[in-house]
Amino acid sequence: MVATTEEVLELHGRVRECTACPLHLTRTQAVPGYGPVTARVMAVGEAPGENEDREGKPFVGAAGRLLTSLLESAGLDRRDIYITNIVKCRPPRNRDPEPLEVEACSHFLDEQIDLLQPDVILLLGRHALTRLLPGAGGISRLHGERVRHNDRVFVPLYHPAAALYNGGLKETLEADMRRVRGYLADAEAARARRAGGASASELRRVAASAGGDQMDLF
Ligand code: SF4
Repeated sequence: MVATTEEVLELHGRVRECTACPLHLTRTQAVPGYGPVTARVMAVGEAPGENEDREGKPFVGAAGRLLTSLLESAGLDRRDIYITNIVKCRPPRNRDPEPLEVEACSHFLDEQIDLLQPDVILLLGRHALTRLLPGAGGISRLHGERVRHNDRVFVPLYHPAAALYNGGLKETLEADMRRVRGYLADAEAARARRAGGASASELRRVAASAGGDQMDLF
């Protein structure tokens, strides 16, 4: 069942008040996530940077603009996508998040995934890949691939920030992003089939309770 706006806002409120790891001491504000509760695609980055820390939204700087144009080039609208990070508060001087910080914050991301039930989860960079697909392999091998895990579809991608400084990576990211559209179409079709299957199962159950002869109808 799709989450309600109230449920997602309640979660965002808990993130903003969280003091569970030392990053709360240096943040301007926490950055819970941004996007519609109906999003079928979730994008997960590493951590807020300076711009995100100031504005309270994920991917609003140069990397964010590149992400928007990459999504557009693949026929995806950023306004349809829920975007968040592994850790919700900016690490000082944009250093990598510490393992204890990731551990302290991870339950928020788990809750976001449980609430939104996205069809496809884009893993932007190695930190997102390591957190959500531990042991699956490195980003250089898995980028652009579709990885199914725990009944979900994940697509590891290079982080847009890395592509800002490496033109070759940008071309790779563009090519990988173009594959996402097809993955999303497949995932939506699979979801529709599951929904149809559930309806048929329910009809069988109702028919069975109404009398054995009805079973032949399905
Ligand atoms: S990074 Fe996560 S766990 Fe740490 S204070 Fe921010 S919201 Fe809480």
